Amino acid sequence: MVRLGPASVAVSVLLAMSSAASGATAGPLPPPADQALARTIFKELVEIRTTHDVGSSTAARAIARRLLEGGFADRDVIFIAPDGHPTKGNVVVRYHGRGQGQPVLFLGHLDVVEAHPEDWSVDPFKLTEKDGWFYGRGTIDMKDGDAALLEALLRLKREGFVPEREVIAAFTADEEAGGDANGPAFLLSKHRELVDAALVVNLDGGGGVYRNGVREYLEIGTSEKTYVTFTLETTSPGGHGSLPGPENAIYELAHGLERIEALKFPVMLTATTRASFRRLADLEPGRQSADLRAVANDPPDLSAAERLSASVRLNAQLRTTCVATLVSGGHAENALPQRARATIQCRMMPRDTADHVRTLLVSALADPRIRVSLDAPPIVSPESPPTPAILTKAASVVQSMWPGVPLVPTMATGFSDDRQTRNAGIPSYDLSGMWIDAEENRAHGRDERVGVREFDESVEYTYRLVKAMSDDL
Ligand SMILES: [Zn+2]
Repeated sequence: MVRLGPASVAVSVLLAMSSAASGATAGPLPPPADQALARTIFKELVEIRTTHDVGSSTAARAIARRLLEGGFADRDVIFIAPDGHPTKGNVVVRYHGRGQGQPVLFLGHLDVVEAHPEDWSVDPFKLTEKDGWFYGRGTIDMKDGDAALLEALLRLKREGFVPEREVIAAFTADEEAGGDANGPAFLLSKHRELVDAALVVNLDGGGGVYRNGVREYLEIGTSEKTYVTFTLETTSPGGHGSLPGPENAIYELAHGLERIEALKFPVMLTATTRASFRRLADLEPGRQSADLRAVANDPPDLSAAERLSASVRLNAQLRTTCVATLVSGGHAENALPQRARATIQCRMMPRDTADHVRTLLVSALADPRIRVSLDAPPIVSPESPPTPAILTKAASVVQSMWPGVPLVPTMATGFSDDRQTRNAGIPSYDLSGMWIDAEENRAHGRDERVGVREFDESVEYTYRLVKAMSDDL
């Protein structure tokens, strides 16, 4: 789940403006039988526990069973788990088309983050409907999207729909942190023929943003930042704690960390963030709007960038960021330290590189005694260009559901399985149709929930999306 886009540009005066700018009205619902089926599937998936210790195979098999009952052929519904990871199952279904163009791959992950019942006000592994909400682990990340996608496939099949190009859907394992058998990585590296496509539509990101109850805009995720971690290390001779001298690994590291704290990476724009700032400018008042427009210029207005950087979220859109997240040092209360270490966690802009970031860290530290090492090579995730073709196609679906709502290309600051498919050379777009409040942030947290009405609408939206994307762009 990566909905950490620029959403909270957050100025309080938005209400009046955005009511005019976008539609506040509810969108259409699916036919009653499909609405009921989607809710049944949603309940089934939420109540199958898919945390890391349990795995996703039971959920993948439940989906396979429904696809077979829905008329998909045996050979087109593949359950597959990596060797040595029988609980980390994936299911891939192929919906044959008229053979026009290259296939489109829809992605949804099945795993969820752990939830402790004692932290919740309801049982996290039951779907509870209360006061217009569905509560449960995975309701927003992302069994809602899985249920909507599966229901769309079943409905299209029942209606006898034949897509222009092949539609592949993969319901996969291990997207969330800590996974050791990531489904898309496994499928792309070992069974590429099952999932090879010209385009990926991932329902794990994107989606609608409510502010003060108004439908402000819908995001289409076209890129995400790249995760990379460095370790800083200092050493000193050590000795008895009663005889401190000038060399001390902890002080050296601490002084270096202060310089990292002050380090601001250069402003870097991408096609996505430019488009995003321009569209958000239409929704913002006065100075903020002018600054968003000015920073989207080429070259960007750096004083506008400076003002916008006061917002944590906008700052993360404007540059690579690095932050100290762990620190350790010394070995005994009464001894001088021999070693100190800090972890520096960076989120790079899509065009940035680990070498460049390392160079900037080293020059900010300005102390050759502090060693800087890269923990692991990053999984590079190139931007999928926000082309007129994809934006027009996606906007047509959005307009059919929620007239007047603008579509905003987004760079997520977190990461998703898109990094696997983008790294494999397939342009990938996040196109969830779920609406959540800009201030609500319960994914991975307690009392995760989605609106009942919003869930039903997302079912109808996903059906229209699958249909539209199965046409060549
Ligand atoms: Zn997710």
